[in-house]
Amino acid sequence: MKILLVTPPLTQLNTPYPATCQLTGFLHTKGIDAEQIDLSIELIQELFTSSRLEEIFQKAALLNKLSKPNRNILQQSAFYCKTTEPVMQFLSGRDNSLAQRFSNRSFWPQSKRIPSDDDLEWAFGMIGNHDRATHLCTLFLKDLSEFIQQTIDPDFELIRYAESLCLRLPTFKPLQEKLLKPLSLIDKLMLDIFEKRILKSKPGMVGFTVPFPGNLYSALRCAQWLKKEYPDIKICMGGGYVNTELRSITDPAIFKFIDYMLFDDGELPLLRLLTGGELIRTLSLSSDGEIIRSNFDSIENISFSEIGAPDYEGLLKNNYINLIELTNPMHALWSNGRWNKMMLAHGCYWGKCAFCDGSLDYIHRYETASIEIVVNRMETIMNQTGQSGFHFVDEAAPPSLLRKLAEEIMKRKLTVSYWTNVRFEKSFTPELCYLMAQSGCIAISGGLEVASPRILELIRKGITIDTARDTMKNFTDAGIMTHAYLMYGFPTETAQETIDSLRVVRDLFADGLIQSAFWHRYAMTIHSPSGMQPESVGAKLVKQPAGRFANNEIPFTTGHEIDLEYYGKGLNLATYNFMQGTGYDLPLNDWFKK
Ligand code: SF4
Repeated sequence: MKILLVTPPLTQLNTPYPATCQLTGFLHTKGIDAEQIDLSIELIQELFTSSRLEEIFQKAALLNKLSKPNRNILQQSAFYCKTTEPVMQFLSGRDNSLAQRFSNRSFWPQSKRIPSDDDLEWAFGMIGNHDRATHLCTLFLKDLSEFIQQTIDPDFELIRYAESLCLRLPTFKPLQEKLLKPLSLIDKLMLDIFEKRILKSKPGMVGFTVPFPGNLYSALRCAQWLKKEYPDIKICMGGGYVNTELRSITDPAIFKFIDYMLFDDGELPLLRLLTGGELIRTLSLSSDGEIIRSNFDSIENISFSEIGAPDYEGLLKNNYINLIELTNPMHALWSNGRWNKMMLAHGCYWGKCAFCDGSLDYIHRYETASIEIVVNRMETIMNQTGQSGFHFVDEAAPPSLLRKLAEEIMKRKLTVSYWTNVRFEKSFTPELCYLMAQSGCIAISGGLEVASPRILELIRKGITIDTARDTMKNFTDAGIMTHAYLMYGFPTETAQETIDSLRVVRDLFADGLIQSAFWHRYAMTIHSPSGMQPESVGAKLVKQPAGRFANNEIPFTTGHEIDLEYYGKGLNLATYNFMQGTGYDLPLNDWFKK
């Protein structure tokens, strides 16, 4: 049976999301007819055209109340309509000659987002025209996206759709009600593209990957349309959101939209579904409307060495766009550049952190393949995409594997660049960091989490601030950029520990040991050690009925909570400034003024 794998809108726009590529690659090794479509980038390319913008501006002009910035945009609608297609041409690398014009600040209309000439010169110097133009074009798209959100469609954001609706869904009802409403402009555009593809591909099955809450609504909108127009096509759904949120689903209502829900690594469940074998980790509906859980707890999988190389066929013609929102080179890696995404190993070799979903297969099943297989996959992808940059999307790439990788890349005389996640552990010696840099490592990201000795121990991160600092220094000395993942609101964390944590982070920035950082609010999840044993981290669960649809984050108390919204704002504001190279001298408490 032929399958069409779909990345539903919206997600990253600079490079394909890896799930469908991985599954397509695997299914091709089994001789299965599999195609893929990235509806996300195709939708954005369709949306930011002059005719679409004209339609949007006409609708917005009929509204009674508009904010001042939106009135300004509307007044300049002719400029926006005229410029949007050249901007998309430039951002997708099809017309680099526009860099000179777009890097000129006076080309752009007044907007709250446009930086001063001084700020631009500080960030890009006198000659960094291409990045400067990419930054200004990104701000142009951000302005337009905000306009669309505030006037036409409140669910629209540039890289997610209807996320706030889908973030917390203990019941399916709000989403179901939304799906019964008339189609939005975005829905119509998406379904037009989808319909053309269905007609062209004629699949027997369509598979949606739903990595994030911001992809769920659009996956179901497409599925709803498919059920109505092509009821014979079977529909399955999997991905990160399904794996973490929908494991304990008891409400069968979603099966009005889809036929199967697949869990954990999709290779084997999909293979069985497509070839008629015994279903595994698959939910479906019985004839009397009950959810059937087929071999749900099975741990059988295709081994990591057998899953094959990701296959980008069908996505290469897409015009992915480069975006630079912040003038920070490390931060820009996530949205700028056509990175080939693949894993060096499956799962996490550490697997103990108290906040992490360690009981789920994608973390706890640590499995490797020989380094020859890994680098063969890299070469296969490079030959196919023509791109030599890799983002290894491992949860935490082990130092020993990175050493072998660096040696193998150099042995084969490959010129590549790569970046990945690591733990800041002491095995990253100066010599290993140097070796990695020589082989093409340009950046790493890692969790420093709560930079407090007491909490780091409670989290069971297995690192100390001192070893993390030494490791970061080794990376920096080797010329490798570093991003730190940070966390606030861990159970029992005090206000003072939060501020102290910011002090550590500030000093790391000031000493040039990290280049970017991001604070996440701690969420207690049912799949994490802290969620399974809250008392081990000094917390108690607040009882609540289990959701019939999504279940992931669970409420807890420690008896002495701090105001997380207040501290979160201060931490983010401070770190935003540190990333721009300012604010190091300000007293820490100043970031937390009401
Ligand atoms: S947080 Fe990172 S290092 Fe810790 S268990 Fe999870 S994946 Fe592994």
